[in-house]
Amino acid sequence: MPADADIRANLAAVRERVHAACVAAGRASDEVEVLLATKTQPAGRIAAAVAAGARLIGENRVQELAAKDTELTALVDGLPYERHFIGHLQSNKVNQVLRYVSCVQSVDGVELADRLQRRLETLDRTLDVLVQVNTSGEASKSGVAPDEAVAVVREVAERDRLRVRGLMTVGLQSPDEAAVRASYRALRELRDRAADAAALPVLSMGMSGDLEAAVAEGATMVRVGSAVFGPRPQPA
Ligand SMILES: *Cc1c(COP(=O)(O)O)cnc(C)c1O
Repeated sequence: MPADADIRANLAAVRERVHAACVAAGRASDEVEVLLATKTQPAGRIAAAVAAGARLIGENRVQELAAKDTELTALVDGLPYERHFIGHLQSNKVNQVLRYVSCVQSVDGVELADRLQRRLETLDRTLDVLVQVNTSGEASKSGVAPDEAVAVVREVAERDRLRVRGLMTVGLQSPDEAAVRASYRALRELRDRAADAAALPVLSMGMSGDLEAAVAEGATMVRVGSAVFGPRPQPA
């Protein structure tokens, strides 16, 4: 497990990789944000990343988000950061997740969108969302099927409390780089079919192992965990 100084160095190395990938793709490096995927990381290590300049944090489980919240708030000591939800969101966790996040990246259907809409009406607020697409077709992955994605984006966009900012995918896990890139290209092409880039600017795709492929295919946000925090402990 890297120490806090290593978190800082690792974050800098990730930013350097993003920069190099942007240069290689002929893109400006400020077009791509880095979100830290902090699942399994204790609040102290997340706070170290915020102190090192991380401004976007993604959690996968509502229970974990809630459990770390008080300690994290105390440790970051007023530094600005934003939290996104990036895991599968159960409908009975909608009320709770809205206490913590400014964006749900994992909207995977109209039913979840409706639940969020109803709760947001009660709270009289809005929420940024991304529609998650299962571009790899793997049964273990959440997200709407690619052939339904455009219709789901349009339906979700009709909910006036939800601001659909773009699409998210967990790409294909494979050593075949061409296949991985194809899954990221598929997300960009779906966005282009749903709306132009000005209306749906965010493409959240790419992780520690493959962010270069995602940036080459148009990612505007990469989600990085292990490249900053080290390998996660394997579940027993
Ligand atoms: C864990 C996770 C990531 C980051 O994965 P790493 O390989 O550790 O970079 C990105 N997105 C989601 C949805 C995740 O759960």
